Formats: sequence, structure tokens, C-alpha cells
Amino acid sequence: MFEILVLSGKGGTGKTSLTAAFAHLAAEKSMGDTVICDLDVDAPDLHLILHPQQTVSEDFVSGHEAVILEEKCEQCGICTDMCHFGAVSATPLPRVNPMKCEGCKVCVTFCPAQAIAFRPKHCGEWYLSESRFGPMVHARLFPGEENSGRLVSLLKQRAKELAEQKSCSLVLSDGPPGIGCPVISSLSGASLVVNVSEPTPSGLHDLERVTELCEHFRIPSGVIINKADLNEKISTRIEEFCAEKKMGFLGHLPHNPVITEAMIRGQAVTEYESKDFSEAVRKVWNTISEMKGKYQ
Ligand code: SF4
Ligand code: SF4
Repeated sequence: MFEILVLSGKGGTGKTSLTAAFAHLAAEKSMGDTVICDLDVDAPDLHLILHPQQTVSEDFVSGHEAVILEEKCEQCGICTDMCHFGAVSATPLPRVNPMKCEGCKVCVTFCPAQAIAFRPKHCGEWYLSESRFGPMVHARLFPGEENSGRLVSLLKQRAKELAEQKSCSLVLSDGPPGIGCPVISSLSGASLVVNVSEPTPSGLHDLERVTELCEHFRIPSGVIINKADLNEKISTRIEEFCAEKKMGFLGHLPHNPVITEAMIRGQAVTEYESKDFSEAVRKVWNTISEMKGKYQ
């Protein structure tokens, strides 16, 4: 099984729109052979294009949180004094703010009345679904929750299991933005990284950082320049960077509002009536498929 991971270094480069288009093109070639996975668990939006129908929904539980049991509490104030994170308010009754609780267990240990429960934390949900381009694995992390790296690992594991169960040869993942913990989790086991870059100084800088990560984990990568015509000088610099690093150059895409228009309509850009742009995306997907053949 091969995993293509689409990354971008930051949000807003068109990564999700292109992942949806690649899912469409993969399904066009061989329906049911690809598991689609949305690893951008902090701000998932691939479902807005794919409209998946959930078949399984499970809680994501990670870490613990303190909860004061009012009926046992003697209001001594020790928990408020001892919490280093300012998570326990004292009035009108001692109460833990779940957004601030770091789950360190200090208050639980020192409460003289054993009035603080230490419960597993429900941080979000994950889903198995069916979309018009094939099976999909995705999730939703509740606002303010951490542990997105763990949720990414869980989704990757579920996507792998689903691919094995359905005899799919490809997992196509929309990765998280940035280069933090969720991105590092998403890289684990990936076969090929597709970097969606844009020709701005920060786009080039982000590309350099993602490339360093790919090199560190020895994962082959290739680059697409989206909105390439916005700054031809930096586009050329990105191509030179790819040549220096001996990375695959997967193609340019021009700036085109059809990406946004298609997303508003809940369509992949290759389903939308935009012949020229669709053709350009198809060409990029063909190049990715050729590169996949090289590393399979
Ligand atoms: S330490 Fe225990 S008994 Fe004291 S205020 Fe906190 S919860 Fe109540
Ligand atoms: S578990 Fe730690 S962070 Fe949470 S309320 Fe108790 S002392 Fe504060």
C-alpha cells in the first residue's frame, strides 16, 4: 500500500482543493482503490468538498482532566492554591476550567476530601465514511484541545486498516499545515510527500522547512507551485530549489478563482466546468502517478 501525503507548510495554499481533485482523478481511474484521509484535524475541510456519509463515529479520548465533585468538596481552597495553571476558580464554589486544566493530577493528589475525580478527556471524534470518491477517514478535534499529533496517528492507523480491509492500493492524505507535531505524526509511514507551495517569500521558506523534515525522515517529495504566475521570479527560485535538492518538480498551476468557486459549490476543481485549469491539474496528477511508480 502506498501513501501520498499532501503538505503545504502553511494553510491557504490550495492543498485541500488539490487533494480533493487528486481523489477525484484517482477514483476516475480506479473507483474504490483509494482511501482518502483528512489529517488536518485542527481545521478539517476536505469533507466540505467530498460530503462523506458517516458509517462509524467514535470518541477520541486523550489525557485526563480534573472534575470537582461538589457533594464531597469541603471548600478548603487547597486545589485553587496548588494548581499552577490557574485552572481552579474559588468562588462561588471551587470549579475546574477544562480549557485550562493540563491534567497534572496535583489537585487530585492533595485534595483532603478525595473530592476530585480524574477522568479521561473527550477531545474530539473520528469517523469512517463513504464519499463519492471512495472510503474516507476523518476527524474533528474540539476547539482548544491539544493532542492533535495523537489523533493524526490514530487516523493514519485507521486509514491503513481500512485500505487493507478493502484491498485499496493507495491512501491519499490531506496533511496538517505547518511543521509541528501533527505534521511530524503525518509523515510517519508516508511513501511520497506532495508539497503545495506558492511563490511568496514565506511560501519558499515554508517549503524549505517541510523539505528538511522530509529529508530527515528520508521520504521522497515533489513540489507543485500553485498560483505560479503571481510572482515568476520566486516561482523560478522554487524550481531551482527543487533542482538543488534533487526533488521531483510536479508542475505549475496558475492563479485561478475556479479553485474557490468549486469549493463553494462543494465540488473538486476537476469536476467543475474549468477545462484549462482541470487539464493543468490532471497533468500534475499524471506526474505524481509517474513519481509514485518510481517509489513503489
Ligand atoms: S481541595 Fe478538595 S475539598 Fe478542598 S476545595 Fe478543592 S475539591 Fe474541595
Ligand atoms: S489536574 Fe493539574 S492542571 Fe488540572 S486542575 Fe488539577 S492541578 Fe490544575
